Amino acid sequence: MKLVRFRHGSRIATGAVQGDYLRPLAGTFFENPVPTGEEIPLADVRLLAPVLPSKVVAVGRNYAEHAQEMGGDVPEEPVLFLKPSTSVIGPGDPIPYPPISSRVDHEGELAVVVGRLARRVPAEEAGRFILGFTCGNDVTARDLQAKDGQWTRGKGFDGFCPLGPWIETELDPSDLAIECRVNGDPRQTARTSQLAFGPNALVEFISAVMTLLPGDVILTGTPAGVGPLQIGDKVEVEIEGIGVLQNEVVPSA
Ligand code: MG
Repeated sequence: MKLVRFRHGSRIATGAVQGDYLRPLAGTFFENPVPTGEEIPLADVRLLAPVLPSKVVAVGRNYAEHAQEMGGDVPEEPVLFLKPSTSVIGPGDPIPYPPISSRVDHEGELAVVVGRLARRVPAEEAGRFILGFTCGNDVTARDLQAKDGQWTRGKGFDGFCPLGPWIETELDPSDLAIECRVNGDPRQTARTSQLAFGPNALVEFISAVMTLLPGDVILTGTPAGVGPLQIGDKVEVEIEGIGVLQNEVVPSA
């Protein structure tokens, strides 16, 4: 299933996409969602960020080639950081370019959406706690990340966590093509089989530290090829079996 949040007129609700139509659901994704019986043409709705997470837990240096381009190796254990819930935007939403940065990078990533409260979950059981997968962009003010020596400011601006276009619930994430394009030009091309720590290992590692709540998102890390975005750029993250997340970089209001 392709699960979405959407706006239709003044209504905001959840639904499942089937072909060119959207079937609204009663309630949330997390507690036995029931179709309402309605059918709305997909062209008539605006898709929103598929979840509103309480937190986005992101992983640094999880692809060997990206670790190398950043001047290091894949760490022995996952390196975690948090992006604020206010950084999340949806498909088609603008990414505001912060006036206090002069180097903003794209980072296309596979995003894991948590489906059930998860605390100290072993990797072998992690699949039961994952609702599905979506495309993510861990947008980063690289200059501020370097200047601060830690990542909260550089990774935390409003709009720096595009997610979408939907949550694919029936997908084996172990070997998917992932690509990030800027104005149609491929910048990052890899496969999720190159992840040092995969989704199940990350659920185990993270849930040993903090409780993951339904709707929380894990950004699994970015492949090699990160690079700068300019105002006016259209950035796309495409993952095989999910779809394409597109956002445009705009001047900050
Ligand atoms: Mg990243």
